[in-house]
Amino acid sequence: MAKVAINLSTGALQQEEVIVGIDLGTTNSLVAYVHPETKTPTAINDLGRGTIVPSVVHFTQQGETIIGTEAKDYLITDPANTIYSVKRLLGKSYKDLGEHKDYFGYKIIDDNSEGLVKIRVGDKFYSPIDLSAEILKELRARAEHALKTPVNRAVITVPAYFNDSQRQATRDAGKLAGLEVLRIVNEPTAAALAYGIGIDPTEEKTVAVYDLGGGTFDISILSIHQGIFEVLATNGDTYLGGDDLDRAIINHWILDNQLIADTINSDKNLSQELRLKAEEAKKVLSTGEVYDSYINDSIKCHITRHTFESLIRPIVDKTIDSCRMALADAKLTPEQIDTVIMVGGSTRVPLVYTSVSDFFGKPANNSLNPDEVVALGAAIQADILAGNRKDILLLDVTPLTLGIETMGGLMDSIIPRNSKIPTKAGRQYTTSVDGQVNMKISVYQGERDLVRENRKLAEFDLKGIPAMPAGFPKVDVNFILNADGILKVEAIELRSGVRQEVEVKPQYGLTDAQVEQMLMDSITHAREDVSARMVIEARTTAEQMLYQVERFLEKNGEHLTEEEIDLTRSNIQKLRESLTTNDKDTILKAVDVLEEQTSPFAERVMQISIKKAMAGKKIE
Ligand code: ADP
Ligand code: MG
Repeated sequence: MAKVAINLSTGALQQEEVIVGIDLGTTNSLVAYVHPETKTPTAINDLGRGTIVPSVVHFTQQGETIIGTEAKDYLITDPANTIYSVKRLLGKSYKDLGEHKDYFGYKIIDDNSEGLVKIRVGDKFYSPIDLSAEILKELRARAEHALKTPVNRAVITVPAYFNDSQRQATRDAGKLAGLEVLRIVNEPTAAALAYGIGIDPTEEKTVAVYDLGGGTFDISILSIHQGIFEVLATNGDTYLGGDDLDRAIINHWILDNQLIADTINSDKNLSQELRLKAEEAKKVLSTGEVYDSYINDSIKCHITRHTFESLIRPIVDKTIDSCRMALADAKLTPEQIDTVIMVGGSTRVPLVYTSVSDFFGKPANNSLNPDEVVALGAAIQADILAGNRKDILLLDVTPLTLGIETMGGLMDSIIPRNSKIPTKAGRQYTTSVDGQVNMKISVYQGERDLVRENRKLAEFDLKGIPAMPAGFPKVDVNFILNADGILKVEAIELRSGVRQEVEVKPQYGLTDAQVEQMLMDSITHAREDVSARMVIEARTTAEQMLYQVERFLEKNGEHLTEEEIDLTRSNIQKLRESLTTNDKDTILKAVDVLEEQTSPFAERVMQISIKKAMAGKKIE
């Protein structure tokens, strides 16, 4: 029976709603929830079809969409209309795919290499977001059917290395599937949560999450303290996984059996059968010692655990190399890892388990189902967000980046979006003009590179900086964002101690829809923003160079020859002209010329003043 809750402030009755956790995987996806009575995280198994939904979308001739196990059956028979591994394409452009374009059996459109990829099926075009949304819709439908309640909200997991554009694409896919995505959670974080790590805020732990899936391998090193999950390092291989283990078996059978070798290239059904048999053999060998089977009662498929292990050892060793690199990046030794967690179906292979345990010097945790562990953790996170766990501190994140305006109207980010709050960050700045006694601090919020595209929160002057040459004052700007989302900005000039601060409420007056729009804009304009930023940076460099060289001529012109002064003036003029082009390369080239021509001057002037100083001493 569904529970009913009363909103105490309005007196209204409200249906208690489930928030689900979703593992949107490259090979397989799952949806899970925390059972309201038993409080146990559970993967949903609708109609006894199993908890795992293969991440495959098939479009039938009749225009229907099939998801999951049934769709997987079409991978070999109808590859052009069957989309797999769409997660690899999320948030990517055609250019991003690089050498891996041939990996996909379906048509990826390359008409616009800068924009996000599109996939062609028949005469229709789909984005990876559309296709991921199809998988999410299926998961949502299964959850609604199994739980007999509407499901409108979810937590979705992504790999720790996913960038902003990939995370946004995942969010958008959720939206298209009719889900409000309450949070995007890192897969290793979810796995740790599923093992109960991080639930107690006083606990401090360093955790390694080893995730070997169908086609990808990730190792993540997490530091967990005060309920905060910090990713210390990630490593892995986006094209290494269980599929490679299957392929190793197939290749072995081809070498071992002349009949297979002779027919494999001409017989499509045989290669399909071999793939299925190889995966079956691999799974059998995860518990058994030998696999024996026949294709069409005539082709014998035989392999022992011993042979299998010798075939896959190089693959497993490669993953251990990645673990070594991740630890080096995190500046940790294997002994400093408190807990190792196994994630992904391929960690069921005994050689994988023993190799990982040996490397870290302790038995890895695999008590939870490695296929389900990420979805279970997502469900726990969802339950926390639903407010069902009053014992857990709910950590909020800032939805938009906070920063200040720097030279040329550029946004300098100080607290990046998605930072956990409370948080504190700061940066040091200096003056750009000699004798500058005031500094304007303008605080902005948003994801765009130019402040004028972002939202201004506050502005104040740091007054009373003692007059010093440009570049001498040291101004610390600190952002302190407290747990209520109030931002305090303080600026201090360290040499004199002058100090000024303001307080603002970044979220004030911003609706969710506006935050969303700001994030969307940052994605659509990402490329133009980057080129605008590069031009502004070039201009700023040029202007600083001009300022310095002109000041040098004024002060030290007496030490230069007539020709040197003329050449300097002519190069200054050229640099000024380059600024009118607004072309970063032209500007930077002119900066280079002036820089190269004038750089010997500084040294000469220094020599002269040293000589003078020495001469002075002699007179004394
Ligand atoms: P992903 O996270 O990439 O979506 P999964 O974690 O679901 O992938 O892992 C899928 C892989 O796990 C497949 O290659 C599958 O063959 C493999 N796998 C599943 N069960 C076993 C098993 N019992 N033994 C070995 N490999 C397995
Ligand atoms: Mg996975």
